[in-house]
Amino acid sequence: MQSHPITIAIDGYSSSGKSTMAKALAKAIGYRYIDSGAMYRAVTLYAMRSGLIDKTGNIDVNALVAALPAITIDFEVSGDRQYTILNGENVEKEIRSLEVSDNVSPVAAIPEVRHALVRMQQALGSEGGIVMDGRDIGTTVFPHAEMKVFCNASAEKRATRRYLELKAKGENVDYEAVLANVLSRDHIDETRKESPLRRADDAVDLDNSEMTVDEQNAFLLNLFNSITAE
Ligand code: C5P
Repeated sequence: MQSHPITIAIDGYSSSGKSTMAKALAKAIGYRYIDSGAMYRAVTLYAMRSGLIDKTGNIDVNALVAALPAITIDFEVSGDRQYTILNGENVEKEIRSLEVSDNVSPVAAIPEVRHALVRMQQALGSEGGIVMDGRDIGTTVFPHAEMKVFCNASAEKRATRRYLELKAKGENVDYEAVLANVLSRDHIDETRKESPLRRADDAVDLDNSEMTVDEQNAFLLNLFNSITAE
């Protein structure tokens, strides 16, 4: 039986449902949940608002790297919801837009951005008792995490989920644009030099293409129980 709170890394492809299941698991076991993608999105929003990304997606990398010390990211919890706070402002809604999604993967490929955010993520999880989702949590942020899961689902399933989510939030989106964004983020995340999206050798695979949310939650809870009972 594990007597100390463990570290849980949930990685996988864009819109594979990681956040939903990571959040539900954290709630069920009383752990803190951290959405590392929200941190990359917040840095991207900061860059867009500061004019460091132009309309064609070109990033002023030097200026962004110089601005990193001026960026603070926090999370605020209210009931079941968690909000991302960028330099004191709640930007939860803004960071989920398709514009931010279109720019985030090139920003996340900048090594200095990754170093800064990985340091923040490691500090947030230094005590254990955390569920963090992302792309490199099991490989780079917490390579010694006791529980690692790697999620996948077909690109069409993932794009459909994301499309319905954006529609429900009132965004005027087109399915083909969402699918193109999912595919392009996968490609950039898998091929970048710095901590690319990769399954950790000791991760448990979860293909949730045909699973309901309840089935995914049960899968994770069983895995957690079996790891902590060892
Ligand atoms: O998880 P989410 O899709 O919100 O993440 C947005 C983007 O941030 C991803 O497409 C990826 O480019 C980047 N990301 C990353 N490493 C993480 C989390 C997210 O590179 N740990």
